[in-house]
Amino acid sequence: MLLFAILLSTLLSASFQAQGEARQPKLLLRFRAKAVDGVDELVVKGRKARVEHLEWEPMLGVDIDILAAPPVTPELRIVVRAKSGRPVVTVVQPPTRENDGELRVRLDDGPHGGAAPLSFELWAVPLASEGRPIDVVVITIDSLRPDHLGCYGYARPTSPSLDAFAAQAVRFTNAFSTSSFTPPSHASLFTSRQVGDHGLLTWNALPDEQVTLAEVLAAHGWRTGASVNLSLLSENGLGQGVEWRREGQREARTIVGEALEFVREASAQPFFLWLHLYDVHRPYGRIPGWADRFASTARPGVGDGEDHYNLEPEDVRTRGLEPEDLAWIVDRYDAGIAYADLQLGPLLAELATPAHRSRTLVVITADHGESLLEHPERFFSHDPFLYSAVGRVPLLVRYPDGAGAGEVHDDFVSLVDVAPTVLATLGLAAPPTFGGRSLVELERGARWGERELYQECWGWERLAAARTTRWFALRDLAHGTIRLYDLREDPDELRPFDPAKQREAGALVEKLDAFAARRPADESLPELEPELLRRLKELGYVGDDR
Ligand SMILES: [Zn+2]
Repeated sequence: MLLFAILLSTLLSASFQAQGEARQPKLLLRFRAKAVDGVDELVVKGRKARVEHLEWEPMLGVDIDILAAPPVTPELRIVVRAKSGRPVVTVVQPPTRENDGELRVRLDDGPHGGAAPLSFELWAVPLASEGRPIDVVVITIDSLRPDHLGCYGYARPTSPSLDAFAAQAVRFTNAFSTSSFTPPSHASLFTSRQVGDHGLLTWNALPDEQVTLAEVLAAHGWRTGASVNLSLLSENGLGQGVEWRREGQREARTIVGEALEFVREASAQPFFLWLHLYDVHRPYGRIPGWADRFASTARPGVGDGEDHYNLEPEDVRTRGLEPEDLAWIVDRYDAGIAYADLQLGPLLAELATPAHRSRTLVVITADHGESLLEHPERFFSHDPFLYSAVGRVPLLVRYPDGAGAGEVHDDFVSLVDVAPTVLATLGLAAPPTFGGRSLVELERGARWGERELYQECWGWERLAAARTTRWFALRDLAHGTIRLYDLREDPDELRPFDPAKQREAGALVEKLDAFAARRPADESLPELEPELLRRLKELGYVGDDR
């Protein structure tokens, strides 16, 4: 984050000097506190500042350095930069004539125990000073496989809303995630980095020094928002740069409702919005009344709870599951897709109206897929697999100018390519930490040729994988074993061949090992807080041995 702030102020001041003094970002205030606990508000008026204590312990060791009074003009906005520390810092009231120029900034340490240090800067930046004022909506549908969507050729009518959207978008048939876990994959999506590089390995928090898409956009004057499941924003640090936040276990109906509110409140200020839907995730089709949507015969109770997921062959036997039960669980998976698709309808319709269509970039994807019955060692799972059933994700990109509408690309692309695509569409430079490529290049006629894509799994199993159009190489780091698949003969990745017999794949294995070798020596899982551990166990993410 600090590196980002330095870089950004250099970039911004260079660009604004040409446009005159008034368009330059200006540092207003530096804040430091040794201990923040609970909720406080920093109130700034002219060159005076005070802290209002709203909850729990007052803060200690406060040092506020005011360099300029917050400007009262709708052409500038106040943004938080160079933040360091755990509490969330949000501008809750910008200075206006109506409030007599009073700026209020919320400092929220959330539900953690104990105090934390905090420092940040407040800057005034010109509204959408750089880049085209295009709104951005990113929708991630957790655990969604592309091949169970109509627009990817599925026979069942699971996805009428997404199919209609896909007709207006560019559809990618070889898009892959970077991981099989929810938080690390999302962190790759928003930092444009591989998992071992951004450091959100399993369920820990994204390190503060990582630069997210929301931070880049907020710093350029975009309003940023997210409505997500789990605690991705607070506990997993994916809220970096996000001002408007909704999170926790909720159905798609609620999340889409909140998103519509956010979109309809939008003003001249461009916005970035991320939605994370959890309705396709196990237990599948759990919304009351939806489980039997695609089933001829209902199997009451089957697939309701965690003990019907992550099934090893022995579990199938001991739990007395018949082939009909397993087919019914797949039916339930499809029902979850149909539910999420139905709920997305109103939002996609709103974004297709003339008011939004030509000024909104919409990206729909998933954090990972789901292995159903493909791999007999475990049914209905994603966490410990990097096979394509889990690695391959849907990716639909609708550009505001309609570029490539209805086209299909089979280029190898990754979730790390999404954030650079957003910035390129908005005409903004990507920070140097962003490792992906802009997909916009493909709309301008570029062809990427062969490219290796990498994936990692840091929990359950320690795995690293690399794939090309021809080969899939999977390294088990805990056991030092390698499995190689020839995708031309074995596209489902079921029959590993003897590595000694295939020299052609040797180059990919070398690259994979170089990729895996950059992993830090200490691969121990981060310590989990007891309450978080309890919730993860309830959701079936953590076994009882942890
Ligand atoms: Zn997930």
